[in-house]
Amino acid sequence: MNKSVRKAVIAGNWKMNMTPSEAEKLVNELKPMVEGKNGCDIVVCVPFVDIATVVNAVKGTNVKVGAQNVHFKKNGAYTGEISADMLKECGVEYVVIGHSERRQYFGETDETVNLRLKAALDAGITPILCVGEVLTEREQDVTAEVVARQTKIALLDVDADAVKNVIIAYEPVWAIGTGKTATSDQADEVCGIIRDVLAAKYGKDVAEAVTIQYGGSMKPDNAAELLSKYHVDGGLIGGASLKAADFTAIVDAAQ
Ligand code: PEP
Repeated sequence: MNKSVRKAVIAGNWKMNMTPSEAEKLVNELKPMVEGKNGCDIVVCVPFVDIATVVNAVKGTNVKVGAQNVHFKKNGAYTGEISADMLKECGVEYVVIGHSERRQYFGETDETVNLRLKAALDAGITPILCVGEVLTEREQDVTAEVVARQTKIALLDVDADAVKNVIIAYEPVWAIGTGKTATSDQADEVCGIIRDVLAAKYGKDVAEAVTIQYGGSMKPDNAAELLSKYHVDGGLIGGASLKAADFTAIVDAAQ
């Protein structure tokens, strides 16, 4: 199989950074720097309050907009929550689901991840499903079991046609925001394990078509090596996505 059947996706996760005016400045700086770089899809996943500003700023460019979470109910008495239809109408094309910070600080479970993922798919938004082990799990050598469980539960009741519209981000929790990066071999191995889980459920052809990113301190100086690996189809980038030059360098590594 040839890795080039899959489109690489470089997605920035701005987390809780950037007011709307700061967001506009960053994205206006980024746009000309990534213009014409069509070897990968380029996404910025921004705070909810920045969505309208950023969607407007990137109109007609190759930069797409994502959100960082979505609620699983269509509407109703869920104070403070945002539905998939709301995101869609605002021009959101991607949404991060099950990020480790949401699992760790906000009680996100594999089950609610599954509900959110299906809500996104139903609304025509591409979920970026995050899976990954914490440090103790890696030390106990249960990484494969952890990511397999997270992936299987997240994809419950998702059929083969729908899963082709899902991006999976392997994000070892010990590498997020820590400056510690998985080696390219570790990243490739676990992305391959995730692909095996997909193959067991949906067949090899479907599994080969799914984009699997690596995330965890991806930076200009390690991106090319990570992205060169067979199973690594892009990156989910936190810290380095807040600087236009660094994010562009990672986009360049994916061309
Ligand atoms: C992330 O937030 O998903 C992430 C990978 O962050 P960082 O690149 O800062 O480790």
